[in-house]
Amino acid sequence: MTLYQGSLHGGYNHSATRAWQSTNTEITSKNLIYPLFISDHDDAYEEISSLPGQYSENGHNADSDLSPAILATNKLRTLFPELLICCDVCLCPYTSHGHCGILNKDGSINNVESIKRLAEVSLAYAKAGCHVIAPSDMMDNRVGAIKDILHQNGFGGKERDVKEGADMVMVKPGMAYLDIVRQTKDKFPDLPLAIYQAGAFDLKTIVLESLTAMRRAGADIIITYYVPSLLDWLKEN
Ligand SMILES: [Zn+2]
Repeated sequence: MTLYQGSLHGGYNHSATRAWQSTNTEITSKNLIYPLFISDHDDAYEEISSLPGQYSENGHNADSDLSPAILATNKLRTLFPELLICCDVCLCPYTSHGHCGILNKDGSINNVESIKRLAEVSLAYAKAGCHVIAPSDMMDNRVGAIKDILHQNGFGGKERDVKEGADMVMVKPGMAYLDIVRQTKDKFPDLPLAIYQAGAFDLKTIVLESLTAMRRAGADIIITYYVPSLLDWLKEN
């Protein structure tokens, strides 16, 4: 008999059974990561911006002791010893050309040198006290390279990218990619899954992005009060 299947009320009359049926919906401070963009242009760090040669071909300042990320990590570890610290690792804030890796003479990406450098920077962040290394570059095999250098130096498991043994994954940006979040969680149910809620939006951007998400998730027909605006916006594009 399937008479009782789907009959939910009996499970909601006690706070404990209610809680059992509402997994993954409560939000606590443990679910939150606060993104901080550390700059060396703040007055307090004036001595750093006055350093000669901030930017170079290989982003040498990324792992210097005076790198903003390392100074901030040190400071946060001192002020808030209980806080979990995750560092975004990339070279683009530190390279003279603004790319996320090291370039060959012809301007193409040198993947081997890039992942070597990303691994060095990751090690420096780990030494500064960072708990989670989160590489945001898109170099091939960098998680493996980072994992190698961290393990060789006594830091275990601090990276992502599942094929190479990552410990967590992230989808960015957030709201308009919930279908991708679902697919990712289904594929890797045992890994913590982070979602990055991007910053402020204007109306047109958020409406168009949410409609893209609806289409990608499988909707063929979208019923929306924004049709008049959408017809204008689509004409503009
Ligand atoms: Zn980058």
